[in-house]
Amino acid sequence: MAFEPKDFSNLLGIPGLSDQMLKNHFTLYQGYVANVNKLFDSFAAISNEGKASTPEYAELKRRFGWEFNGMRLHELYFGNMKTDGFALSSSAALKQKIVKDFGSSEAWEKEFRATAAMRGIGWAVLCYDQGSDKLINIWVNEHDVGHLAGAASLLVMDAFEHAFMLDYGTKRADYINAFFNTIDWDTVSHRFDSAKR
Ligand code: FE
Repeated sequence: MAFEPKDFSNLLGIPGLSDQMLKNHFTLYQGYVANVNKLFDSFAAISNEGKASTPEYAELKRRFGWEFNGMRLHELYFGNMKTDGFALSSSAALKQKIVKDFGSSEAWEKEFRATAAMRGIGWAVLCYDQGSDKLINIWVNEHDVGHLAGAASLLVMDAFEHAFMLDYGTKRADYINAFFNTIDWDTVSHRFDSAKR
């Protein structure tokens, strides 16, 4: 069972993010997919050799979530961007839930932007926790620390330097503005509708 990298070349030409930066980013993403496949092969090979109780096996297992989430978070991120960003309709269930949980969409956006602007490398994610029926903005450190178990990731923003440095230098705030103009709210909304079921 090998994972195949998804094609996000439809994003080339998106306002605010250069093709060069996106192409570099796609290559990085493909590296995560390749490593997920390599890890699966290694697990099988080590098990077949009867060495599954070794520290080497344990360390590869520890690494797996980092590589897998590096792959999946990029797919969610590229997947929630669009060349002609889609506004969130006020009739959408997600819009109503944002207003219910945060008071207003402006209050939600302010908190998401503050999360996205945090120092460090990682991800800003708007999650939906089915257990408490709540929307929560979270910061994920690198790819693996800070996820909420069982929660669905609805809107994902890459906050690693590679996502913006080529175009914006150290001005992450300018990148966050650009990102907000690319959000495909139709997709984010569908993710919420699926998670609600
Ligand atoms: Fe990235």
